[in-house]
Amino acid sequence: MPSFVAKCLDCDAHTPYHPLTKSCPECGSEWLEACYDLDAGKSWGTTFADRPDSLWRYRELLPLQNPSVYPSIGEGWTPLFPAHQLGMLLGLPNLYIKDERQNPTGSFKDRQAAVTVAALLEHNINEAVICSTGNVAIAFSAAFARAGLKLWAFITSLVPPEKMHEVAICGSQVIKVTGTYDQAKKLAAQFSSERGLYLDRGVRSITALESMKTIAFEIAEQLAKLQLFSNAETKRRGTWSSPDWYIQAVSGAIGPLGVLKGFQEMYAAGLVDNIPALACIQTTGCAPMAMAWDSGLDVADPVLSPKTHITTLSTGDPGRAYTLLRQRMLEAGSGTIDSVSDEDAFHALSLVAKMEGLSIEPAAAVAFAGLIKLTRQGVIQSDDVIVINCSGHTMPVESRLLGPSWSKDVSVDDFALPDYPREGIVAALTRIDQAQMRNVLIIDDQVDARRLIRRLLEAQGTFLVEEAESGPIALQLVKQSIPDLIILDLMMPEMDGFALLDRLRAQMPTRDIPIVVVTAKELTKSEWKRLNGHIERLMTKGDFFVDELIEEIEEALRQER
Ligand SMILES: *Cc1c(COP(=O)(O)O)cnc(C)c1O
Ligand SMILES: [Zn+2]
Repeated sequence: MPSFVAKCLDCDAHTPYHPLTKSCPECGSEWLEACYDLDAGKSWGTTFADRPDSLWRYRELLPLQNPSVYPSIGEGWTPLFPAHQLGMLLGLPNLYIKDERQNPTGSFKDRQAAVTVAALLEHNINEAVICSTGNVAIAFSAAFARAGLKLWAFITSLVPPEKMHEVAICGSQVIKVTGTYDQAKKLAAQFSSERGLYLDRGVRSITALESMKTIAFEIAEQLAKLQLFSNAETKRRGTWSSPDWYIQAVSGAIGPLGVLKGFQEMYAAGLVDNIPALACIQTTGCAPMAMAWDSGLDVADPVLSPKTHITTLSTGDPGRAYTLLRQRMLEAGSGTIDSVSDEDAFHALSLVAKMEGLSIEPAAAVAFAGLIKLTRQGVIQSDDVIVINCSGHTMPVESRLLGPSWSKDVSVDDFALPDYPREGIVAALTRIDQAQMRNVLIIDDQVDARRLIRRLLEAQGTFLVEEAESGPIALQLVKQSIPDLIILDLMMPEMDGFALLDRLRAQMPTRDIPIVVVTAKELTKSEWKRLNGHIERLMTKGDFFVDELIEEIEEALRQER
C-alpha cells in the first residue's frame, strides 16, 4: 500500500501516483500534489535522525516506494553553516548558508534529478524529456547517465556553452532551441507528447516539487543541531527548528513551493513550531512574479523577452506557479517576492567570495543581493534567523565577470633570474605599484572586526593594512610610521577612541592623519561634539556596506586636512 496519494488541487480527488499521469482523472486539471499521512504522533524526528546522512532519510515523505533503486552519488544533505563575516558586515548574527553548490553537479537541481530518476526506475520508465535553463539539464544528464536512462535535453541557445558541454558530455541528446526558455518549454512539451515520453513539467511534476522539500527538512534538522551547540537552551531530541527567513533566487518557483510545503508538513507532523517567511528574489530584467506581487495581483503578466544576463533565472511566464506561490505565502502570513539588478547580483557574487570563500554562480548571487536589499530596507532584522540557499556553483564562464584587477602581472624581466633567489620575487612583488599603495591602520580591540575591515581593504588591492588592538599599541605604531589613514573604533578598554583621538590630534605629525570612525556605539550629544571637526567620517557597524566604506576612505584620503 502506498503511503501517499496524488491529490488534485482543483477538485480534491485522490488518485494513485504514476509518473506518466499528467492530469486528474476526475476533472482534467494538470495540478496534482503528493499527499501523505502526517501522523504527528509518530516520532518522525528520531526515525530520520538514525538514518545515513542523505536526502533518502526522509523517504516516507517522498513520492517513492523504494529509493534504493537509484544509484545515488551523494545528492542532498549539503552543509548548513553560519556566515560569520557576511553576517557581521550586514549586522546579521544569525545568518546561515545552505550550501547547495556541494551537490554532485553543483546546484540544488540534483535533488530534483535524483528523486525523479528514482521514481522513473520504480515505474520502469527509461526515457524522458526535460527543458532547462542549464542546471536542470546538467543534473538530469548526470543522474540519467548513472541510471542508464535516455534523456532528451531541450536547452535555449542562450545557455552558456560551458553548461551545454556539461550536459552533452554525459551522453544526453541536446536539442538547442534558438528562442526564449518559455518557447523551448513548449517545443519540449510537444515533442514528449508526440513520443509518449515522460516530461519534467517543473512545478507540476510531483517528483520535482517533492524533491525540494528535502532542503526544508535538512535545514530544520541541521539548524536544530547548530543551535543546540551554540546556546544552552536544551532541545527535545527529535525536535527541529525553523529559521525566520528562507531566501532563494527564483525562476520557476519549484524551490520555494517545495520548501514551503516541506515546512508545512513538518509543522503538521509536530517537528517544528513555525513556518519561515520566504524571500523569493528575481532579477529585474525578468521579474514577472516580483512585479505581480508588488501590485497585489494573483496572476503574473509574462515577460516576453527577458532582459538579463542571468539565464538560469529566465522564466518569463511563471503561469500558475506564481498564483500558487502567492496563495501559499499569504496563507503562511509572511514573506515577500522582490527583485535585484544583474549588477547588484554580480556585486554580491564578488562579496560572497571575498567574505565567505564561496565561488557562486550569478543566479545564486541574486539571493544574496536580495538579502542585502531586504536588510537595508529593514524588512529583515538583526535578530532574525536567516537561511539563504546558495543554489549553484560558479562555472568557468563566470571568469569574465571578475573584471580587470583580479591579478597582478609580474614579468620575469623585472628582476634578473637566477641571480635573485626567492626573496627577489617577493621583493619584486612588493615593489609593484608600491607608490600607489596606501597605508591604513585599523584600531579596534575586537579581532573579528579588524579582520573583516582588513579583508575588505586588501580585496581592493591598493591598501597596505596594519592593525592595533589598543590605543597604546596604536600610539607606538604611529611613532614608527605615519599611516595615510586611520580607522578607529570608539569603545575600547584601557584608552577609548575619544582619548586616543585627543592624543593623536594634540601634536604633529599625527594631527593631520585622516580618521574614519567605525563604531557600534550610539553617540550622546556631548560625544558628537568631541568628535566634531576631528574626524573625517563616522560609520555605524553593521549599518554600512563595503562600497560605502571604501568610498568614504577614498574620499577621506583625497581631502587635505
Ligand atoms: C533553478 C535555479 C534557481 C531557481 O529555482 P526555482 O526554484 O525553480 O525558481 C536558482 N538558482 C539556481 C542556481 C538554479 O539552478
Ligand atoms: Zn481534479
